[in-house]
Amino acid sequence: MLPSRYFIDLTQPDIAAQFKNNPLVILPAGSVEQHGPHLPTGTDTFAANVIGHAVAERMDGLVLPSTPLGVTPMHMPFEGTLTLTPDTYMRVVKETCVSTARHGAKYLLILNWHEGNIASLAIAAESLHRDHGMTVLTVQACYVAEELYGKTCNGLTHGGEIEALAVLADRPNLVHLDRIDYSSDHSHGHKMDKLRRTRSYQPVLTDIRSIAQTGWFGSPQHATAEKGKKMLTDIADAIAREATDIFHQLDAVQGGAAELRHLRQVK
Ligand SMILES: [Zn+2]
Repeated sequence: MLPSRYFIDLTQPDIAAQFKNNPLVILPAGSVEQHGPHLPTGTDTFAANVIGHAVAERMDGLVLPSTPLGVTPMHMPFEGTLTLTPDTYMRVVKETCVSTARHGAKYLLILNWHEGNIASLAIAAESLHRDHGMTVLTVQACYVAEELYGKTCNGLTHGGEIEALAVLADRPNLVHLDRIDYSSDHSHGHKMDKLRRTRSYQPVLTDIRSIAQTGWFGSPQHATAEKGKKMLTDIADAIAREATDIFHQLDAVQGGAAELRHLRQVK
């Protein structure tokens, strides 16, 4: 029984035994960027970590140290944002995961909460599979959250209720709903988010102010820690269920090695 699923909480023998037991690693991918006056700059990183850990408990995996920063030129007009270039980011992702592959990790679940990382993660994931033999699944956890909670939380918006809930689930002291000043215009924000999230047409926006003048928009004022914990459970359940199924399907079509049969869902 592991005391934690976080790689950096464990000892070397714990990790060696776990790689033998079930060679699954989860890489949380977030970002450090402004989230208005009410949420911490690490919101995306906290979200990816806490969901990653909950998924790891359900799938019997280890959570790698999250990438320290993400790719977020969108938010650079505001203090509180640190960005990497896609090249640097991809190297950090690849070199982190390749290290685990050398120690026996076979399955990689990249759990992403930051839209700016998507393109870089796709390229890194290709290489981790093709050049390093890992079975790779990238999950856009922020979109899973939107699918499950978008209707009741006024959509997935930057600094809105879904993001507040994700932080409240694990680090409630970092959320300051009393400091909310004013949200940017909702209908403009939703219109621009829709424009940039369609599958067929993909415009490049200069920065977040094209979507939200104040840097954020949404309705986080009614978010609570209790609702955050429920959202966390629902998202982790959904991801663990779907990811387990997808890994089994990948094994079936790609001829998973014998040791890959160790993959299982704990509960
Ligand atoms: Zn965010």
